Amino acid sequence: MTKVNLLDFDLEGLTAYCEGLGEKRFRATQLFRWIHQRGAADFTAMTDLARSLRDKLAGVAEIRPLKVLTEHVSSDGTIKWLFDVGGGDAVETVFIPEDDRGTLCVSSQAGCAVGCRFCSTGHQGFSRNLGTGEILAQLWMAEHQLRARLGNGAGERVITNVVMMGMGEPLQNYGALVPALRVMLDDHGYGLSRRRVTVSTSGVVPMMDRLRVDLPVALAVSLHAPNDPLRDNLVPLNRKYPLVELMAACQRYLESAPRDFITFEYCMLDGVNDSDEHARELLALVNGRGANRVPCKFNLIPFNPFPASGLTRSPRDRVTAFAKVLQDGGVITTVRKTRGDDIDAACGQLAGEVQDRTRVGERMKRLPIPVVAAAPDTNNGAAV
Ligand code: SF4
Repeated sequence: MTKVNLLDFDLEGLTAYCEGLGEKRFRATQLFRWIHQRGAADFTAMTDLARSLRDKLAGVAEIRPLKVLTEHVSSDGTIKWLFDVGGGDAVETVFIPEDDRGTLCVSSQAGCAVGCRFCSTGHQGFSRNLGTGEILAQLWMAEHQLRARLGNGAGERVITNVVMMGMGEPLQNYGALVPALRVMLDDHGYGLSRRRVTVSTSGVVPMMDRLRVDLPVALAVSLHAPNDPLRDNLVPLNRKYPLVELMAACQRYLESAPRDFITFEYCMLDGVNDSDEHARELLALVNGRGANRVPCKFNLIPFNPFPASGLTRSPRDRVTAFAKVLQDGGVITTVRKTRGDDIDAACGQLAGEVQDRTRVGERMKRLPIPVVAAAPDTNNGAAV
């Protein structure tokens, strides 16, 4: 008999499960705290649970970790794990330590069906969605292993921020994502605030609207282009949800978001999307007119080249000039520090191992490298 993986449950789900075993609700809370706050995987260690319950659980349930295939530690302290998720698929998770925070970048799918041109995961194609337990197992393992390694006491958190920016489009795996987010936010779980949990999307508009209602955590949008022809090419999902719809969804999201801005991610691709004209188009897009404005910050990401992409990184002075146009237009703009690039853990470099069941990767190889001119500059650089 396959045992039930308790990592698959948020607190409500675990409570229902425990009640099904004839246990009181508060037992579920105790169990939940043992699993997520103390990292226990062995029921015998859960000493404040009745012996009879521990025995019962041991017969039918387990806390199922993911098997670590490899671990690489970068010279800057970034750690990348490759986890086996079965069936020939493996996903990657990255821990990024900084002075004032520890961020875990978590995967939501084995591969990705969106197929962004500049993304290593996108080139690998798509195999399957991860389950809630597989999403949470990344956080559970990283938090508790790192606590043990650093000698942190109980409750001394290592991971202070989670970004759903690893492999996959999280909003195309909504059903598994939301319970996982609930556990991250739950005071009996990881107790992270909504501001410290970020979902990154390439623009799945209907699911942005659902997340806004169900669990509005911080939102990052992978924008990467200021106009539809270019974005159609770089982020193919744009053909389904073009920029006008995406910007409207961002505005709606902001009504409930824990922050008063959307973060736009923008991967800087040499000669493709990095001219001053592109930057001015972006300003026109986000500044809009009156009610169409989208309060935002831009995060410019130096592209991490990989051979299959056929793309190259924008030169440093081009990135600086691009950032200046945005800043002069009144938009806060940062340039992301590359972390872990000596272990291929930097943004867009996560590839894992994916049994491509969609042939996205194959189709992409046949597409020309996108070089689309910016729309003519009609606004003379002024935000409209
Ligand atoms: S950037 Fe995100 S949405 Fe695009 S292919 Fe990569 S993982 Fe998928």
